[in-house]
Amino acid sequence: QTKIQSKAKDPYPDWKAGTPVPYAALCATFSLIELTTKRLEIIEHCSLFLRQVLRLTPDDFLPTVLLMINKLAPDYAGIELGIGESLIMKAIGETTGRSLQVIKADQKDIGDLGLVAVKSRSTQPTMFKPKPLTVKGVHKGLMDVATVAGHGAQGRKVDLIKKLLSAADSQSSGKVDIHTDKGGPSETKFLIRFLEGKLRLGLAERTVLVSIAQAMICHEAEQQGRVPSTTEMEQAESTLKTVYSELPSWDIIIPAMLKQGILKLRENCKLRPGVPLKPMLAKPTKAITEVLDRFEDQTFTCEYKYDGERAQIHYVSKDHADEYIDALPGATKEAAKGVASIFSRNSEDLSKKYPDILEKLHTWVKEGTKSFVLDCETVAWDLVEKKVLPFQQLMTRKRKDVKSEDIKVKVCVFAFDLLFLNGEAVVEKSLRERRELLHGAFSPVEGEFAFATHMNGQELEEIQTFLDESVKASCEGLMVKMLDGSESGYEPSKRSRNWLKIKKDYLSGVGDSLDLVVLGAYYGRGKRTSVYGAFLLACYNPNTDAYETVCNIGTGFSEQVLEELHKQLSEIKIDRPKPFYSHSSGGQHQPDVWFEPRYVWEVKSADLTLSPRYKAGAKEGVDSSGEKGISLRFPRFIKIRDDKKPDEATTSRQVAEMYRKQESVTKNKGPAADDDF
Ligand code: ATP
Repeated sequence: QTKIQSKAKDPYPDWKAGTPVPYAALCATFSLIELTTKRLEIIEHCSLFLRQVLRLTPDDFLPTVLLMINKLAPDYAGIELGIGESLIMKAIGETTGRSLQVIKADQKDIGDLGLVAVKSRSTQPTMFKPKPLTVKGVHKGLMDVATVAGHGAQGRKVDLIKKLLSAADSQSSGKVDIHTDKGGPSETKFLIRFLEGKLRLGLAERTVLVSIAQAMICHEAEQQGRVPSTTEMEQAESTLKTVYSELPSWDIIIPAMLKQGILKLRENCKLRPGVPLKPMLAKPTKAITEVLDRFEDQTFTCEYKYDGERAQIHYVSKDHADEYIDALPGATKEAAKGVASIFSRNSEDLSKKYPDILEKLHTWVKEGTKSFVLDCETVAWDLVEKKVLPFQQLMTRKRKDVKSEDIKVKVCVFAFDLLFLNGEAVVEKSLRERRELLHGAFSPVEGEFAFATHMNGQELEEIQTFLDESVKASCEGLMVKMLDGSESGYEPSKRSRNWLKIKKDYLSGVGDSLDLVVLGAYYGRGKRTSVYGAFLLACYNPNTDAYETVCNIGTGFSEQVLEELHKQLSEIKIDRPKPFYSHSSGGQHQPDVWFEPRYVWEVKSADLTLSPRYKAGAKEGVDSSGEKGISLRFPRFIKIRDDKKPDEATTSRQVAEMYRKQESVTKNKGPAADDDF
C-alpha cells in the first residue's frame, strides 16, 4: 500500500482543493493499472485516486467514476457515442494534419488506434498549448459527441473529437512507447480508447464499485481522524453492491452517497420505478434429474419458459407520478393514465417499440395498484388461433417509433415476477409471496396480459408432463425456481442457481445455445458469391476484456438473412482485427474481412470439442497445455440477439463450464457442479 501511495503522492501540483480533476491525473492512474493484472492492486490504485478526488474535488467524483467505467450515463438513458473506427481515424488525421491514408497504414502496422493517435500526435508541431483537459471537460465533450443529432451530425462529431484531441497531452508529450505500449500516461491513448468503447484495463464495473466503497469509507473515517475497521470496510462494500443491484445508476447513488455517507445509502437509494435493474438470470440444465439433484428437499416451482423478449415494465399511477416523474425517462406530468416505461434485458428503453402495451397497461391493473415493477416476457400472439407465435414473428416488429395503428404483430405480456409494488421493493420476499402479490395486483386479459403458467408438483413425472405441455404451447421449455425461503428472493443481475432453465432441445446435446459475437466473415462461394458465406464467431472473456474465437459458422442462414447480414456487417468492416481479439494467427484461418465487435447471434451446437484453431476458454484450464481452445461442432445460426450487447455474450467461463459438463456426462460421472459462472 505504501509503495503505491508514495507513487500517487501529489503528482499534480496544480490540482488543489476545489479545482477540477486533471484528466492527466486520471490517465496516470490508468497507466498504473495497466501495469498489473492483479485485481487487488487494480482496486488499490483506483481507490487511492478516488480518495484524492473525494479529498480535493468531490464535485467531480461522478464524472471520474463514469470515465473509469467507460460510460457517459446510466444504460437506460440510451446515450451512445455512435461512432466507428473510420470516424475516429478521420478526427485523428484532421487534428494532426496527417492524411487518412497514412493513418490507415499506421493502423495496419500498429493495430491499436489509441497508439496510432499517439504516434500521429508526436509528429505534430505544437504551435500553441491549449488548456489542459479536465475530467469534467472530457465528460462534457464526450457527452456532446454522443448527443449531436440531425443533419451533418457526423461532421460535427468529428469536430468535437478534434477539439478534445488537440487539447490532449498539451502539458506533456504523451510519452507512451507505441511499440511496447508502455510509458505514458497518455491522455490521447485513453481518449481514443474511450471512443472505441474499450479502455482495455481489466477495469470491470464491479472492480470500480469495490474501489468506490473503499475510497468512500476511508475518506469518511479520515475526516473523523481515524481509520475504518474491517467490519466497516465490508459493510461499505456490501451496502454499495446491494444498492447498485437495485438501483443501477451512479447518477443517483453518488450524490446521495456524498450527502449522507455510504453506510446510510440503503435508506434512500432503493429500487424505484423509472430506473431499470439488471434482470435475474437462470443457469442451464440438461436433464430433469439435474434439477431434482439441485433442489433436493427444497420446494421449487416450474413455469413455462416463453420465447419472446424480456420486458421490465415500470408504472406509477397518475396520483403518485409526481414522486417519480424525474426518474421516468420520457414521462410527462400530463400522462393521462399514469406514467410507464418498458425496458429490455439490457436496460434499453423499449417504450417506443411497445406503445400498444403502454396504452392498455392500466386496464390490467386492479384497483388499489398504484405503482409496480413487473418482470415479464412479451410474446407474439395469434389473435385468431389464440396462441403463442414463434419468436421470429416478434422480431419482425419495428424497434422504434411504432404507431399503435400500424402494428401487425400483436403481443401478449406473460408476467412471471413482481419486484416493486405500491411504493415498496418486494425483491427480498420469497417467490411464493411475490407470486401472490402479483396475482392480487393484476387481472389477466385474454391475448394481452397473462400470468406465466406454473405448476408446483415436485415429482419427476409431473415435471416431464409439464415440460411436454409447455412445448405443445409453443414455449421453449421450463424455468424451475426456488419457491420458499430467503434463497427464493429476486437476485438482480445474477445468473443464479435458484433459477434453472430446461430447454426442450437441451435434453440431448450441449446444455444451452450460445450467444456469440461476430468478428469476421468469409466471402461466399457458388450461389453465395455476392454475400458472406461463413462467419467467425467469438465468446467474451470479461477478465481480459477480450473476444476469444470459438467457431466458423455457415449453417442455419436463409438467402434473405445472408443478404441482410451482408448489408449490416459491411458497415462495420475494419482493416484488421482489434488488439482485443484472441484468434489463431495461422494464415489459412484468417477470415476475409474483420468487423467491429457489435452483433450478437444465438447459435446452437451438437457438442463442444478442443481445437488448436480456436481460443475460447484456453485459459480456463480445459487443456493442460493451455494452447487449445474450445470450439463448437456443427454450429447452427438461430437468430440475432439484438437485446444483447457484445460484452453480454456467452463468457469464456460459461463455454468452459459447458465443455466440462459435457465431458463429465460422456464419461458417465454425472453432471458437473453447477457453480457460479
Ligand atoms: P436465453 O437465450 O435462454 O433466453 P438469456 O441469457 O437471455 O438466455 P436466461 O436466464 O438464460 O436468459 O433465460 C431466461 C430468459 O427466459 C429470461 O431472460 C426471459 O427472457 C425468458 N423467460 C421466459 N419465460 C420465463 C419465466 N417464466 N421466468 C423467467 N424467465 C423467462
